[in-house]
Amino acid sequence: MAKRVPEPFRIKMVESMSIIPKEVRAQRLVEAGYNPFALRAEDIYIDLLTDSGTGAMSDRQWAALMLGDESYAGSRSFYKLEAVVQKITGYKYIIPSHQGRGAEQVVLPNVIKKKGDYVLNNMHFDTTMGHVLIAGGKPVNLIHEKAYHTEVYDDFKGDFDLEMLENFIVDKGVENISCLIMTVTCNSAGGQPVSMANMKAASEIAHRHGLKVFIDAARYAENAYFVKTREKGYEDKTILEIAQEMFGYADGLMMSAKKDGIVNMGGLIGIKDDEDLYNACRSTVVPMEGFPTYGGLAGRDMEALAVGLEEGLDFDYLEYRIGQVKYLGDRLREAGVPIQYPTGGHAVFVDCKKLCPQIPFDQFPAQAVCNEVYIDSGVRAVEIGSFLLGRDDETGDPLESPLELMRLTIPRRVYTNDHMDYVADAVIEVAKKADTLKGFTFDYEPKVLRHFTAKLKPVE
Ligand SMILES: *Cc1c(COP(=O)(O)O)cnc(C)c1O
Repeated sequence: MAKRVPEPFRIKMVESMSIIPKEVRAQRLVEAGYNPFALRAEDIYIDLLTDSGTGAMSDRQWAALMLGDESYAGSRSFYKLEAVVQKITGYKYIIPSHQGRGAEQVVLPNVIKKKGDYVLNNMHFDTTMGHVLIAGGKPVNLIHEKAYHTEVYDDFKGDFDLEMLENFIVDKGVENISCLIMTVTCNSAGGQPVSMANMKAASEIAHRHGLKVFIDAARYAENAYFVKTREKGYEDKTILEIAQEMFGYADGLMMSAKKDGIVNMGGLIGIKDDEDLYNACRSTVVPMEGFPTYGGLAGRDMEALAVGLEEGLDFDYLEYRIGQVKYLGDRLREAGVPIQYPTGGHAVFVDCKKLCPQIPFDQFPAQAVCNEVYIDSGVRAVEIGSFLLGRDDETGDPLESPLELMRLTIPRRVYTNDHMDYVADAVIEVAKKADTLKGFTFDYEPKVLRHFTAKLKPVE
């Protein structure tokens, strides 16, 4: 039986939500072009679109807002944030940014030295890939192929394929590679963790060849939890100690603080000790994000983030957080719904290729399931599959994603385990009639990032 981990908090302030009638939901979805991205949030009951910036701040974070020092330069709140990040990472230089992609647009152009240089990653997140391309680089994913076998259990499906990494560097020549990025947990592979042993080995390979290593640290604390609970030798270490070891293997970090920082907006750049890179980033950040002691954040944002980073490292919080995701996943598995297994840190991914084999990839099986879940229950999920992937740049042919997934992304500290039961019941009901669902085709298809604004219609 799926096991609940009780919430390690009680509720002091509530936000009302209501559920609109099923006929109205069906109508709203038609108006939204069968694309849940275009729904108004108030037409949604439980919103599992993303865990980014959707978490609930604690009483301590709300109290910290009042302490914000809004000085343009040298704000006290910056130094408070800097001290917390230095403690977690051991890095000397810290620069805030407005969110993760803000950090990327500052760091990546300073690391990608010439056009066409490769950037290596276990798996690039989409904005990271975007900023690598904008900076003239070529993103390469070197994740171990175990990540693609949704049914097969593995403790660390976010791991690099170390042999592929070594061979790639030797084949292409280190002079054509700009850096290695380790994405922890690996968002695009389902929030799957990377083992400490794998991070250490990947970093050793890169450093032996003279390459710099960065951590894409959005979910570093969730990754540390998996290392503590699954990797031999770490069971008695604290989450903080594990995080410190992880960051020790890299030369810098880019971070979306909207995830494990548990704030609604914010990001971070950290540089271990490379003064030249720090100076370059400090110059870039001014026109892009703002003065280096605020980087697009208000003083109060930095106060809330300093507290959120500490809370995100709390073991009991992480046990509940990861436990809630696992609980939802276990309930679905017990009912025979195919998911990416084991569940990762922030979401449950339902394998819709298995659920709806009658819908071809270019009629978007996972989108069909998301739409039905919304109409049935008011729960919003998101398609991660061929609809998201888009078309081939040159031929314009629709690209086929290796996986057709519906992502149920869990915001931090927002929904209760009763809400998870509601979601599980809704998905299980849709799974029972999955063989009757029909695919979708385009009514309007934008050229780039089509999944945000496309309009669809059912295939007759
Ligand atoms: C969210 C995310 C980013 C981008 O951060 P934003 O705060 O959304 O700009 C980068 N990398 C990973 C792994 C992410 O999850």
